[in-house]
Amino acid sequence: MTSVSGKTVLVTAAAQGIGRAIALAYAGAGANVWATDINESALPTGDRIIPRKLDVLSDDAVSVLVGEIGAVDILCNCAGFVHAGTILEAARGDLDFAFDLNVKSMMRAIKAVLPGMLAQRDGSIINIASVAGSIKGVQNRFVYGTTKGAVIGLTKSVAADYVSHGIRCNAICPGTVESPSLEQRLGATGDYEQARKAFVARQPIGRIGTPEEIAALALYLGTASYTTGQAHIIDGGWSN
Ligand code: NAD
Repeated sequence: MTSVSGKTVLVTAAAQGIGRAIALAYAGAGANVWATDINESALPTGDRIIPRKLDVLSDDAVSVLVGEIGAVDILCNCAGFVHAGTILEAARGDLDFAFDLNVKSMMRAIKAVLPGMLAQRDGSIINIASVAGSIKGVQNRFVYGTTKGAVIGLTKSVAADYVSHGIRCNAICPGTVESPSLEQRLGATGDYEQARKAFVARQPIGRIGTPEEIAALALYLGTASYTTGQAHIIDGGWSN
């Protein structure tokens, strides 16, 4: 396995949670990290981190930023939003918004970085999917699960098209992970403590995962030279 030291890395949704941990992990390993998020004020700073505001819903913003960066070696697509509810509770607009943020944002970023990766015949694309929808059905996650399932199709398709061009594309499927948005989802149930207990109870490993544990897998996939088109599950045994 080669090192990520000196590699150029683009991370979306890097202000908090999994995206932030991935940005910090790559910078800690010596990569030059463009850490981006719509919430610019919360972006990490430090050695080898270049913080930038980026709304992944905007084609123009994504292509302008990639134009500024130049060739990207590793792209980590982390932006995503969780809608709660069943199909009967889902509005068409919810699905449209979720597809834009959870799926089309990945298409935008991949389209922007691919020409540079193809020119250097090297690149790694890492898409954050989820166990929900991608691996197993989860109650009250119709919109979310539908879009995260699509992330696997997108990942496999890109991997198949570019495997012979030196480019790998993998998905990470986390189980429940500590993050600000998880805290919001727990609070929104109306009984935070009970909801947290229920989330922990469905993890055979007995606890919720940490963003750093997901970041370690993302760091591995940046240079793991013999895996592509796979949904890498990291879920404390939830889907086992
Ligand atoms: P989070 O949900 O707490 O944070 C999401 C980040 O996305 C925020 O910083 C937000 O500002 C940013 N964002 C929202 N809209 C954006 C936009 N238009 N452009 C750019 N950035 C935008 O973080 P998380 O819970 O760690 O989730 C990160 C990814 O991991 C998501 O794709 C999520 O679906 C996935 N995931 C999370 C969990 C979990 O339990 N936390 C489990 C499985 C998968």
